[in-house]
Amino acid sequence: MNDDATRNRNTFDVVVIGGGIAGLAAALSAAESGAETVLLEKQPLLGGSTAMSGGLFAFADTDEQREMGISDSPQRLQQDLIDAGGARNDVRLVQAYASGQADVRQWMKAKGITFDAVKAGAGQSVARSHHTRIRELLDTFRTAFLDTGRGPILSQHRAVRLERAGSRVAVVVAETPEGRAQFDVRGGVVIATGGFSRSQELLETFVPAQAGALPYGGLGNTGDGLKMAWRLGAGFRGMGYVTGTYGSHPETGPEESELLCSFYMGGIIVSVGGQRFVDESLSYKVIGDVCLRQAEGLGFQVFDAQVRAKSVPGVALSDIDFLEDKGRLFIADTVEELAAAAGIDGPELVKTIERYNENVRRGQVDEFGRDSLCNHVGERLQITEPPFYAYPAKTMMTSTMCGLTTTPKAEVLDIDGEVIEGLYAAGEVAGAFHGKTPMTGASLGMGVLFGRTAGREAARRSR
Ligand SMILES: Cc1cc2nc3c(=O)[nH]c(=O)nc-3n(C[C@H](O)[C@H](O)[C@H](O)COP(=O)(O)OP(=O)(O)OC[C@H]3O[C@@H](n4cnc5c(N)ncnc54)[C@H](O)[C@@H]3O)c2cc1C
Repeated sequence: MNDDATRNRNTFDVVVIGGGIAGLAAALSAAESGAETVLLEKQPLLGGSTAMSGGLFAFADTDEQREMGISDSPQRLQQDLIDAGGARNDVRLVQAYASGQADVRQWMKAKGITFDAVKAGAGQSVARSHHTRIRELLDTFRTAFLDTGRGPILSQHRAVRLERAGSRVAVVVAETPEGRAQFDVRGGVVIATGGFSRSQELLETFVPAQAGALPYGGLGNTGDGLKMAWRLGAGFRGMGYVTGTYGSHPETGPEESELLCSFYMGGIIVSVGGQRFVDESLSYKVIGDVCLRQAEGLGFQVFDAQVRAKSVPGVALSDIDFLEDKGRLFIADTVEELAAAAGIDGPELVKTIERYNENVRRGQVDEFGRDSLCNHVGERLQITEPPFYAYPAKTMMTSTMCGLTTTPKAEVLDIDGEVIEGLYAAGEVAGAFHGKTPMTGASLGMGVLFGRTAGREAARRSR
């Protein structure tokens, strides 16, 4: 239907689609570059998956690391990203991140953002997950954007179509509570619509083997940006590497994350049958894939009082206190009682822990290849100190982290590798950064970095 006559029309230098971390960084940077900018968000509230996230950022060579005696460098970060990605990443994007992350961190800090803990995470050869309170960060970006006076944030505005004028993307059509609206664009459009973890249709299309993972992530993350760019001939990358993330309680809701990685602190993971099934020092994405194939898709994190004492309240992946307060843990004085309470095979669990402890005591790599707490970092612990704990957890489709092909300037490329004029993408909707497996903290980090780049580049086009 041609609805041009009834559309409400507005013109901006830059239109940003999506109000998670990448979209807010893009809008703020476009506005700071002097561009009249509008941010469209389809949900009533901003935040997307970002607001649900653990707030961990992968940064290297930071003051916070130095204070903890951790030696790191951009080169090491770059190599770790490529190793985690199985060298399937677009190296130009990884280089842009490694060389630009210090500057982006300063940009964030200049706005008052602080990092209160540094933890080890998946794919990191040294601890470099920098924690910040993510909702405060989103609020800081939102306020800073509005304070520039360069444009509005329009919620309940769902972008549905991009249109070209000649070869350039020049129009965004959105559905709003008042009907269709048209946004004419002088500079560029930034797609920052996140992933498609909430689209069963796209999961079935690209990664049917993962479609059994529990849907999670921002409620608006249904792949809209991917589809809009697809219609314009955009290239895709990384679709086959989508995997769920292991570590959340089966009843976890969208309001708060229940992701725990006690196995990186010294625990193990066992099936309902009481047996280990994976090297727990691997990425929670790899574990997520293996866990989907276990009975009931369930893996119990089992640990003892030593690990319990390492809990860091308020810090994602390490907050055991929160889960205990929420009543999510089984707790018992003996392994047998723990197994009975949690519904795990008791005699098998006892044997599993004995075998695990024996390997740790001898300092030998076990039958699954585990040699450390996480990614060859950290000494394993024997599970010996009561009380004992079990946390039932499943694989969640938290994020998809694949999609549009982009340049280091965040320009979207078509299927032939040519730039689609006036179209930019940043955050989880972009596909070539992570390769096979993302590093903890790299998704938020690259969301800010490429969001900021996209906003600046789109603004530059309008001059
Ligand atoms: C539980 C959980 C924990 C995580 N922890 C971490 C972590 O600690 N560190 C890390 O690096 N990564 C983490 N991740 C992944 C990370 O949070 C995401 O990859 C990242 O936040 C994505 O940011 P984004 O801006 O691209 O997308 P989002 O934050 O998802 O924002 C996209 C926005 O676009 C909106 N939108 C979608 N379609 C449209 C449309 N058509 N029109 C207008 N708006 C639209 C959505 O409603 C949403 O608000 C975690 C993810 C989850 C779910």
